[in-house]
Amino acid sequence: MTQFSEYGAAAQRSGPYIDCRDLFKIYKRADLEVVALRGLDLSVDSGESIAVIGASGSGKSTLLNILAGLDRPSAGQVLVGSRDLLDVSDSDLVMYRRLEVGFVWQATARNLVPYLSVADNVELPMALTGQPAKARRAWSGELLESLGMTDKAGRFPHQLSGGEQQRAAIAVGLANKPPLLLADEPTGELDTENADNIFQMIRGLSRSYGVTVVTVTHYQGVSRFVDRVVHIRDGRIGSETFSRSDYRRDGGTVEDEYVVVDQAGRLQLPLELAERFRRGGLARIQSEGGQITIEPPSSNPRLPRNRS
Ligand code: ADP
Ligand code: MG
Repeated sequence: MTQFSEYGAAAQRSGPYIDCRDLFKIYKRADLEVVALRGLDLSVDSGESIAVIGASGSGKSTLLNILAGLDRPSAGQVLVGSRDLLDVSDSDLVMYRRLEVGFVWQATARNLVPYLSVADNVELPMALTGQPAKARRAWSGELLESLGMTDKAGRFPHQLSGGEQQRAAIAVGLANKPPLLLADEPTGELDTENADNIFQMIRGLSRSYGVTVVTVTHYQGVSRFVDRVVHIRDGRIGSETFSRSDYRRDGGTVEDEYVVVDQAGRLQLPLELAERFRRGGLARIQSEGGQITIEPPSSNPRLPRNRS
């Protein structure tokens, strides 16, 4: 990567950049209510890069759309930088979307304007915020270079491969130097090699510019490219995985998965474990010297069986 010019000052702050507490999103359709987020707690540090994984329908896109300022939460707290997204005016939200957040979608067609060249696509958001032409050209050139796209700057989106289109989309997302980059399954339409490449580039940009990154993905190999993986289940964060670069014979990393206890003291178990508890219905809790053990009933025949 090349030497980078000065990035937005907002990206250099330390401490949590995103703070979601007991966040709810309820969609109302006719007389049907769908609870997409149910008391989600999540905090992401400034400059941290996280991946959000979870089954389809678990609320990943809902979370991302709220962080992007495209959708409003129903209740709870969501702070991003200095903004409270639950209590923000419409005009402030427009400025937020334009200047403080970059977004990369899965569908490449949604990220790029088809009749503009790659360079013009990257310059468009800057033109919309009144950047002078010279500054636009310099920054788009630098971004495209850092993404290995200099020789593609004059091409149109349909003249690019899927991976190249997503690299261009990342450049568009960072055009206005936002402190936060959000990506919803950015590699969903790419093969493993291209996916690795995209995640590697996102990580490089995050480190160079101090950009905070939240990526929703199904990609198995993502933990190698982020600081933390959070697992979302039924609209809540169920567990988090951290990678440790401890010595291992095969050169890989060790991953520790932690169950998350939310604001209300609830915890969600990893799926395999939850299944064992569901079969028995009741669980036994023992507390001893700060250590809490929760046992599924099948391992303790003296416990009463579930009535159902
Ligand atoms: P994911 O991205 O994890 O697949 P989503 O956040 O898209 O999940 O959806 C979470 C839940 O909210 C799903 O049950 C989905 O059907 C519902 N949902 C999402 N968007 C809407 C909407 N605009 N109107 C009604 N229900 C929605
Ligand atoms: Mg989704």
